[in-house]
Amino acid sequence: MSKYIFITGGVLSSLGKGVTSAAIGSILEGMGYKITLMKLDPYLNIDPGTMNPYQHGEVFVTEDGAETDLDLGHYERFTNAVMTKYNNTTSGKLYHNLLEKERKGVFLGATVQVIPHFTDEIKKSIEKVANSYDITLVEIGGTVGDIESLPFLEAIRQMGIEKSKDNVVYIHLTYVPYIRVSEELKTKPSQHSVKELRAIGIQPDILIGRAEKPLPKNIKRKLAMFTNVEEDSVFSAPDLDIIYEIPLYFKKEGLDRVIAKHLNLEYREPDLSKWRKIVSTISKLEGGVDIGIVGKYVDLKDAYKSISESLIHAQIPNKVKVNIHWINSERINQENYKEVLSGLDGILVPGGFGDRGIEGKIMTAKYARENNVPYFGICLGMQIAVIEFARSVAGLEGANSTEFNPLSPHPVIDIMQEQKSVEKKGGTMRLGAYQCHLKPGTKAYQIYMSEVILERHRHRYEFNPKYVPILEEKGLIVSGVHKTKGLPEIVEIPSHPWFIACQFHPEFKSKPFNPHPLFVSFVEASYRKRLETKGK
Ligand code: GLN
Repeated sequence: MSKYIFITGGVLSSLGKGVTSAAIGSILEGMGYKITLMKLDPYLNIDPGTMNPYQHGEVFVTEDGAETDLDLGHYERFTNAVMTKYNNTTSGKLYHNLLEKERKGVFLGATVQVIPHFTDEIKKSIEKVANSYDITLVEIGGTVGDIESLPFLEAIRQMGIEKSKDNVVYIHLTYVPYIRVSEELKTKPSQHSVKELRAIGIQPDILIGRAEKPLPKNIKRKLAMFTNVEEDSVFSAPDLDIIYEIPLYFKKEGLDRVIAKHLNLEYREPDLSKWRKIVSTISKLEGGVDIGIVGKYVDLKDAYKSISESLIHAQIPNKVKVNIHWINSERINQENYKEVLSGLDGILVPGGFGDRGIEGKIMTAKYARENNVPYFGICLGMQIAVIEFARSVAGLEGANSTEFNPLSPHPVIDIMQEQKSVEKKGGTMRLGAYQCHLKPGTKAYQIYMSEVILERHRHRYEFNPKYVPILEEKGLIVSGVHKTKGLPEIVEIPSHPWFIACQFHPEFKSKPFNPHPLFVSFVEASYRKRLETKGK
């Protein structure tokens, strides 16, 4: 039977509950335990797939094609756990299942209620995932005190009783603000947050205080006293420059021993040597390569979380620091594009939806192509590259995606037959992992060193295969295809130092210990460009 760690958040959102959970997962893995992680989101959408990134941040796509919370990205990057559609659930999805059962008559004769029916649905969804693991970490989205998270807290409270004390630990991550004028760390908000939890019947076993700096002993003591948590179970989570240092920090504070104690686990010294190596390499990086990310949601860094993490991973084998420059494509126009983009050593155009900022992205691809600046197009970034090439090099005037101009005379990016009949917007894109066959002799093949790759997708539109011959003849070649669908999945310009664009999202598969080859190669090419143009 699995043991459970439930992680709740207090006082504020955005405290980094996802990274904290992932880091704890990695420590337990380092101790030799088989773990998995789950995120329960109390909102009513079935999944985040239909939300604007400004509402939600990035939508992380799992291998099996679920559109999930970005915290699942942290879970996969920090641990070996493989995320599936069952590892992220929402109130919406659970109510949907429950109401379907009600309509089928599963509850004939009963009044269907939040307690016990909805809470049972929550518990079942957790147990289904926990199944064969030693320890399951369950992160509850939102902040304690939200009305919508109440059924989730009730469900995990019940599990504490059902599974017995030795098998369940409650961790509460809270915020300890620093008041500059009086030079004081304040514990009151955390006290109130724990009071809310206790009113629901949950006494946290472990308290982790987020603050800019490590919490001093007297503050930990005060927190312990007024939240009824043992003093050795109060921990700090200060801001750290490198998130991959968090497992090391928690270990240094003794969180591993305290979790083992609360869960009655045999204590094993965690092997965290791989984190030590990563952190020491990243902290010693020198030089710098300037990479521009030209997108629409650049004001919220979380909107491109997996991409920025993949660039961080790619620094490691290249031993060079990457400076990311966030550029809003809506602010790029005919007059300013050269000025805005000059000085960049590499340009990445990420995924996106809708027509705002599209022309700015097209100018960006043009600039990169004409000036031999490494260009990395991802999903929409690939579609943009194809549109730009069709217009400027192949002379296909008005070439476009039918997403932006349904009447384009040259729909180089188009919706495929099977998508045309799709009426419902949620969960109906081409989603999850698909095989791609790479063509020997192409740069993509050289980079992957493999003929068949498996990459994750999330899009509705595709490179229209009708236009492949004319674009190939002009110098943009298809380096990988989905064989049975006959769809181009990755393209490149062989006459350019590094111009590669893919229909899939490689960023979802990059890990600190296994950086994605496309990102590694892109950073390497950008560094080469820098050496050529600016010297070291
Ligand atoms: N909007 C494009 C499509 O639906 C690209 C999607 C993306 O970049 N993820 O095909």
